Amino acid sequence: MELKKLLKQHTVEKKVVSPNTTPTGSDPRGFITLNLLALSSSQRKKCELCDNMATLMCEQCRVTFYCTLQHFQIDKDFHVEICSTVKKLKQPMPFSSQKDTRERWIKQREFHINELFLYSWKKGQADLGKGLYDDAISAATVAYKYAQVLYGQSENVISPMLVAAECYLKKENIKQAEWFMARTLNIELNKPDIRPSIKATIRHNEGLLAMAKGDVQEALMNFAEEVYQATEEYGPTHRKTTLGFCHLGLLFHQTQKFDKSSSLFRQVVEIWTDFLVPNMENMTAVSVVPTIKVKNEETVWIQDSDRFDAQQILTMCYTNQKERYESSGTDKQDVTKMDLARTCYALSVLLLISKRPSEAEASANEALRYVGNQQAQEASFVKKLQRVVKLAQRMLAQTENQDPS
Ligand SMILES: [Zn+2]
Ligand SMILES: [Zn+2]
Repeated sequence: MELKKLLKQHTVEKKVVSPNTTPTGSDPRGFITLNLLALSSSQRKKCELCDNMATLMCEQCRVTFYCTLQHFQIDKDFHVEICSTVKKLKQPMPFSSQKDTRERWIKQREFHINELFLYSWKKGQADLGKGLYDDAISAATVAYKYAQVLYGQSENVISPMLVAAECYLKKENIKQAEWFMARTLNIELNKPDIRPSIKATIRHNEGLLAMAKGDVQEALMNFAEEVYQATEEYGPTHRKTTLGFCHLGLLFHQTQKFDKSSSLFRQVVEIWTDFLVPNMENMTAVSVVPTIKVKNEETVWIQDSDRFDAQQILTMCYTNQKERYESSGTDKQDVTKMDLARTCYALSVLLLISKRPSEAEASANEALRYVGNQQAQEASFVKKLQRVVKLAQRMLAQTENQDPS
């Protein structure tokens, strides 16, 4: 909550950034190699990205260090964006007898730290959503560092650590993921009043970690707890519960408990369909009559993060349902053609909302093929699919008209 409020107050975009800070005559590589022998142990620094001892230093701010050229290069693109702000933090407190001069200096310093935290935290989340894991790690690590300065051991420190841990998991770097998770768990132990949604994310990452290590029981326990915590905060049929449900399904699928996995995937698809369809109606209601502009911003409910979640989760459901269905080629008790049709429908609605009309049309047509000779019994569902096809074609025609070529 606190974090959200802060983010609203400060929309720190690229203005923190002043990228072309390299003065002429400096090393184009942008770093200085440290002479380790000349440094006493107290002068030795840790790498910006890991716990190893630093051998390089950013030559601009001179307060950012790296263990190796590799870690310098991974962090470079992100660091350029915050380097000048970091540099400002280095300015010593003015030697002044005036109390307000010193107070101003302290205020300014806090402002810069806050700026750095918010900018990097937002960027870390966005990059994770885009699948840019290296960039997300750089940003999240910086956010974690400054969150510690600002908030000590609190929820706000956990969030960036979870982003970093998830990125390392995606990159299959178990050791680094464990490093961040261990610290997260430590804060969680000392702070029992953490919000359920954050606990849910912690359990999710722990579940992924257990899966990566092949510990199915441990993973199951964590995903079940994730669902429980997400339900605590959002309620049982909210889309935020579906990530946990979907991973439980995945584990049941892997352990051949197909009746369980199939009913979970079905439930997940249902929740997303209920969320996505009104969004599609809302969006197309505007584009059908182009003269009417959306007056009220609030009518747009879907966020980028929802879109990313939906894409990831529905694709996971579809892949598993299809695999199960195709393993024998006929309807099973647990996965039917209608299940596949319903998942394709949800995906087609999502694609339409994401303004990808040709893919949306293809997905809706795929659903129609699954419905096949059951068209008569499924008349109302077929109508919904035909509507997606129509909307997709209309959207395609509109974009072609707008395109002068
Ligand atoms: Zn390093
Ligand atoms: Zn720097």
